Amino acid sequence: MIKILSISDQVDPLVYSDNLKERYGDVDFVLSCGDLSYMYLEYIITILNCPLYFVHGNHDPVKELNMGEPRSYPFGAQNLHRKIIRKHGLLMAGVEGSIRYNWKTPYQYTQGMMWSHVLRLVPGLIYNKLIHGRYLDIFITHAPSVGVHEGSDWTHQGIKAFRWLVNTFQPEYHFHGHIHYYHPDEVKESQVGKTKVINTYRSWVTEFIPED
Ligand SMILES: [Zn+2]
Repeated sequence: MIKILSISDQVDPLVYSDNLKERYGDVDFVLSCGDLSYMYLEYIITILNCPLYFVHGNHDPVKELNMGEPRSYPFGAQNLHRKIIRKHGLLMAGVEGSIRYNWKTPYQYTQGMMWSHVLRLVPGLIYNKLIHGRYLDIFITHAPSVGVHEGSDWTHQGIKAFRWLVNTFQPEYHFHGHIHYYHPDEVKESQVGKTKVINTYRSWVTEFIPED
């Protein structure tokens, strides 16, 4: 059984608390889908003492200035952008950022640039299928895919290439952020073929048994 804490976009007071270790001490690893301060992520890594894998969100700064050294990523965390890794018996990959709407942060891309990020993953996914018998278990992104949890404005539109990856390679999970939700009855979890799509806004806990 693997237990995952996934987070994005807003600090969750249940996570950023003195009880973090008691509440989430049994998670195997943490996934961050972006738009969270590096200091918050480092707090989680330090207290839970477990791996944290992340992608950047569109609001992430090039350099975050806080106590100590300025940093461009959370220390101790592994960036999954355009990477495929095999950890905890799971095949994981990620793509950072949102659709481009201004030039203020680097983590914004056109639909065409998102296609190039996704296509870059394809040889590794095919390798996974040949070696491990499946393409991918977990896909993490900041933005949602087109038609699933996407917003109605330009900035929160879904990414076409992400939907293609999900349709084609059917990972077990697609975790994303970027879409804030304000009512408990809004949809945070959807099924797309074999893939569970989770808007991990604030936080979400997933428990499952991997195939490996
Ligand atoms: Zn965002």
